[in-house]
This record gives sequence, structure tokens and C-alpha cells, in this order.
Amino acid sequence: MKALVIRKPQELVIDEINDPNITSEEDVIVQVEACGVCRTDFHLLHGLGFAKYPVIPGHEFVGRIFKMGKLAEKFFKVGQRVVVDPNLPCFLCEWCRKGYINLCLNPINIGVNKDGAFAEFVKVNVKQCYIIPEDVPKEVAILAEPLSCVIHGVETANVEKDEDILIVGGGPIGIIFYKVFHEILKMENVEIVEINTVRIELAQKIGVKNVSVLPAKDKYDVIIETSGTLDGFNLGITHLRPRGRLVQFGVADKEVKGEVPLYEMYKNELKILGSFVNPYTMQKAVKILRDNIDIFKGIVTKEISLEELENLLKDSKSVTNDLKIMVKII
Ligand SMILES: [Zn+2]
Ligand SMILES: [Zn+2]
Repeated sequence: MKALVIRKPQELVIDEINDPNITSEEDVIVQVEACGVCRTDFHLLHGLGFAKYPVIPGHEFVGRIFKMGKLAEKFFKVGQRVVVDPNLPCFLCEWCRKGYINLCLNPINIGVNKDGAFAEFVKVNVKQCYIIPEDVPKEVAILAEPLSCVIHGVETANVEKDEDILIVGGGPIGIIFYKVFHEILKMENVEIVEINTVRIELAQKIGVKNVSVLPAKDKYDVIIETSGTLDGFNLGITHLRPRGRLVQFGVADKEVKGEVPLYEMYKNELKILGSFVNPYTMQKAVKILRDNIDIFKGIVTKEISLEELENLLKDSKSVTNDLKIMVKII
């Protein structure tokens, strides 16, 4: 099959490789329909600590079951359309056994430490598969994984209906947060701040009303930091109301450290919360997408081929003028 392979950091090729095979009764071979491009894919090319090279990237995908092992046959049928949770915990480590599967010490992460979906076929475990109806367009279906992460972020923030929310960063993730708060949870006071004016226009085009370069209010109850930058964190920490919560969702570089005003944190009972991937939220994401197809249309702003992806990954600058970019495999 044809696949995009990162042989080692900085070395990217499109290669003809062997199709994956069934080797365990829990295996499912998915024929990939489309796969979203994520910032993780760029990090992978430049070298990511927990990656295993060579690796095929791609973890936000929809496809069809092509072949599967005996156990998988009890739950699925060949030809069924599925989205896949790229993260498979071990269920054996201390954190898994406490119920925090996203903090697993031995996770399998499709597209990071196991081959992913920028290929014609990808091998996954049956536990990672979720049926997605035929009428969900592929550009909406591929949002299942990012949406599942956003749902965990929303649950972490523990919002109440009348609270003021500021989302820092108007990329695909910031916009998915906005859509969940404003259009799914019907919250009125939700805003995005974004420094890139092209992205502001893209957000407005798909129905985000409150998006601008600067925050409209002085203080908020909840800040969702999606940029992974120190500037984003600093903006967040200085705009919290008493009992305010800052959710660090954006992935910062390892060496980035922020400063916290200790007196205000104590006096105003501020909380800083991390949110990492998607524990038990894939099913919720699939249901939200299935019931709200129109709300999530338009987040994919560009459809490209595997060959075009090769060039895109080598030149990361072009990405910020789009929202989600999707690679169409078939
Ligand atoms: Zn991703
Ligand atoms: Zn574990």
C-alpha cells in the first residue's frame, strides 16, 4: 500500500509498503477514507519524545472495516464505517486501574508510537473502533477525535450555564470548543481571542460571532488556553474572576514555564487545570457529531492528497491560514 512514512525526525517519504495483516483476534484493519492533519504530525516530523520511528503519522481518521480478527467479529461487521480512538491504554498500570486511562504509563498512540492513517490501511484494536453513520460527511467524521479531546476539556472546566468563557486561540480546536459551549451547551457568553486576522475571518465565516484580537471583557469565569504559548497563558491568568478556572489545553514546548500570581490565586481561589486527550469521551463525540452535522461543517477548510501532505508537512507556515486540513485517501 501507499503510505507517508517518517523514517526518523526530518526524514519524510511517500513509500510503497506491505499492507498490515491480522496477527491477533482483536485486530481490525481499517481502509482509510480520510484523515485530519494535526499539529502533532508536525511535531512528529521534527522529533517527538514518545514517538517510535519509523512511523506513519495520522490519528484523526474515518474509514471502513476491511478485515478483522475473531474477537472483533463479535462486535463489528466487515464494511462498517468507523472512527477510531487513537489512544489505547494498557488497563494494567496504576493510573489505568485508578480509572485515569488518559494518564496510562504504557499507552499505544496510533500515528505516534504505532502506524497511523496517512496510508491506505491502518491496523487498530477493536476496542478503539466506534461506528459512525454513513450520512456523516468525512470532513465532519474526522473531527471525532479532536472533539473527544475538547469534551474532556469542557468536563475539566466544569462550567455553569451563565458563566463567561474566553477561548484563547481560534484554530480548529478553539472553534470546536466554541461550537460545543455556544451551540451544543447553548451558553451565551463565549468568546475567542485570536491574533491571526485570516483565522478570525475563517471563524466568522462559519458562524463564530464573538472572535477578535483582544478580549472584550476584563475578567472571565473560565479560560480555555488552546495556543500552547506563554502569551496565551499570561493572557489567561490575568483575566480570571474569583473562582476562575484556567484550562491548559494547548500543547506547550517542554521548556515553557509560566508565572502565577500566588496572592491572587489564594485570595480569589483561582484554579489552573490541565486537560490531556480523551478519556471515555469518544462515544460522546460520535453522538454529538451524528446529531449536529451542520454545526461542524466548515471546520475543514482544505482537502489535500497524500502527495500534497508531504509538501505541507515540510512547510508548516502555510497551515495557519487554514482551519483543519484533511487528507483524502479514497
Ligand atoms: Zn490531533
Ligand atoms: Zn495503563
